[in-house]
Amino acid sequence: MSTETLRIVWIYPDLLSTYGDRGNMLILARRAELRGIGAECVEVQSDQPVPVNGDIYLLAGGEDGPQALAAERLITDGGLNRAAANGAVVFAVCAGYQLLGTTFFAKGARCTGLGLLDMHSDRGETRAVGELAGPVDPVLGLPPLTGFENHGGRTHLGAAAKPLVTVEVGIGNDGNTEGAWAGKLLGTYAHGPALARNPALADLLVGWAVGSPLPPVDDSWPDRLRAERLHAVGLR
Ligand code: GLN
Repeated sequence: MSTETLRIVWIYPDLLSTYGDRGNMLILARRAELRGIGAECVEVQSDQPVPVNGDIYLLAGGEDGPQALAAERLITDGGLNRAAANGAVVFAVCAGYQLLGTTFFAKGARCTGLGLLDMHSDRGETRAVGELAGPVDPVLGLPPLTGFENHGGRTHLGAAAKPLVTVEVGIGNDGNTEGAWAGKLLGTYAHGPALARNPALADLLVGWAVGSPLPPVDDSWPDRLRAERLHAVGLR
C-alpha cells in the first residue's frame, strides 16, 4: 500500500454493475475500517482514465454489450494492466472476471480480454443461474464460498490460474471449479454481493493490499448468515 489510506477503485460502474456488486466496494472499505485502516472509494466511469495508484481494483458483472465495450476501453486505456503489473490487487466478478482472461464471448462474438489471468471463456449450452457454493482452495485459508450466479459463458483455466472453489452447488467455471486466482488477482462468478456474503474473502483482499493478514473481528452475524445459506443449499 502506497499511502496510509487504502484506495479502492471501482472500474466502470456505468457499464459493469449487477446484482448488488457495488456492495463489494462498501464491504472492502468497511472491513479495512474495522481494523483502523482508512479507505477511499474511487469510481472510474468508462470515459475516464483508470488511475494506476489504486490498491484494490474492482470489476463487476454486466451484460454482453457493456462487457465487450468495457474490455475495449480497458485495453485502450492500459491503466488496469499497469496497476496489476505494479502489484495492485484485482477482484473481479462474472463479466469482469471473464474479461481478465485472454478471450471471452459476448453477443455471439469472440472478444479479446485483458490477458491478466491464464484463462478463456466460451459459450455454454445453458445459462448458469442460481446458488453457487463450495470449498475454497485450502491455500487461501477461507471458509466455503457462497454466492449467486447468472452467466452464459463457461471458463477454462490454464496452468497459471488456480481454481478458487471446488463446486458443490451450481456451475461456476464449468460445473467442476469456480473462479480463479493467481498472485493478487482473484475472480469469481459469485454475485450476492460476493464480499458481503463472504467477508473472509474481503479480508484476504485487504490483507493482500496492506501486505499482511488482518486481525480477526467479531463475525458472528455474517457467520450466521453463511450457515443459513449453506443450509439452504444443502451443504451443512
Ligand atoms: N455476459 C456474461 C455471461 O453471460 C457475464 C454475465 C454477468 O456478468 N452476469 O456469461
